[in-house]
Parts: sequence; structure tokens; C-alpha cells
Amino acid sequence: MNLEKTIRNLELFGAEVKHFATAAEAADYLVSEITGTTVGIGGSQTVDRMGVYERLKETNEVTWHWKDGFDEDVYRRAREAMVYLCSPNAVAETGEMIFIDGRANRVSAMTTMIEGKRLYLPCSVKKICPDIASAVERARSISPANISRFTDALPCQKDGNCHDCRDPQRMCRAFLMLCGKITWMEKAEVIFIDEDIGL
Ligand code: SF4
Repeated sequence: MNLEKTIRNLELFGAEVKHFATAAEAADYLVSEITGTTVGIGGSQTVDRMGVYERLKETNEVTWHWKDGFDEDVYRRAREAMVYLCSPNAVAETGEMIFIDGRANRVSAMTTMIEGKRLYLPCSVKKICPDIASAVERARSISPANISRFTDALPCQKDGNCHDCRDPQRMCRAFLMLCGKITWMEKAEVIFIDEDIGL
């Protein structure tokens, strides 16, 4: 894993990058950065384990379906928030970030055009992969096997490998390869964390 190369290539795409040793330090940074605005959060073990939801609610209007319910209006408010938090499923050393969704709520929130939107993307350095192909492989074989809250019957959940299934509960429905900051965004900031956090 080459962190320096990854940071360099993310920045060449226009992403900003922060790097912290621990999730607690990264959480303190996020709470200091995000105040007085609307915040949406995507499904993310990383964000959950950072414990920022309650802290951000003290100074922001925060919407997260994991806390506020799997409701169409909750997804809409998260999608339309000025700040969005979620964790990439994998990051290639060449600078591309891979996201994979079953419901496309994260993918749509990150690409909904709202001038001035900010993305904060906390991510353990363990999610860094050598190239796009290995990043996509990680996203399809590791993440869905662990993150599914709706089923335990997917083939990848049995052996950790993607079988390109046609299961009705398939998690891999929408893919996003994000190359830095989208034109209308204020920022897309990757927050690398040395600690082994998230899936
Ligand atoms: S396509 Fe199916 S088997 Fe492959 S990772 Fe997605 S849900 Fe699992």
C-alpha cells in the first residue's frame, strides 16, 4: 500500500486529503469542520464507529437512515444536504474512489448537483488498493459480504468472493468511480485513518 502515491493522485484529481493516526482524531476534525449546515450520512460502518452522528447533531441538521429510518423522505433529505459523509469501499493508488450501492442512495447523494456541496470521505488506509481493478474487486468481494443488513444469503457472504450473482438481494446495483471533486462541488475530501476502522 503506497499512501503517498495515493494522496498525490487523489490531489491531481482535485480531491483534498487529510491523514490522521486514529479515528478519534479524524472525528474531532470533522466536528470542527462541519457546523451550522445540513448533513447527510450514507451507510457506513466507518462513520458509525467514529461516533460523529450525535456530535454533529449538536450544531447541524443531520439526516442518516441508519438512525432516522429507512424512509423515502430521510433519503431525500440526506441526498439534498450541503454536506455528505460516507466511506469509499476502496481507493485505488491511481486516485479513483470506488463506491458500491444496493439502493444507490450514496451514489445519488454524491452526484446530486447542488452548488457548494461538500463531501467528507473518511477511509481506513487498509482500503487502498494498487489499481482500479483491485479496488473494484475489493468493493465487490469484501464490502457487500460485510455490510449487508438485509440478508445473509448472498454467495459472497459465504466465501468472501464475488460470484456476480443474480440474487434478488444483490448488493451491487450501482457503482460510482469518483475521480476527485465533481465540478460544482466545493470540495471532496478524503480523510485517511491509519487505524483499522470500517469494512
Ligand atoms: S454481485 Fe452478488 S456475489 Fe458479487 S459481491 Fe455483489 S452481491 Fe456479492
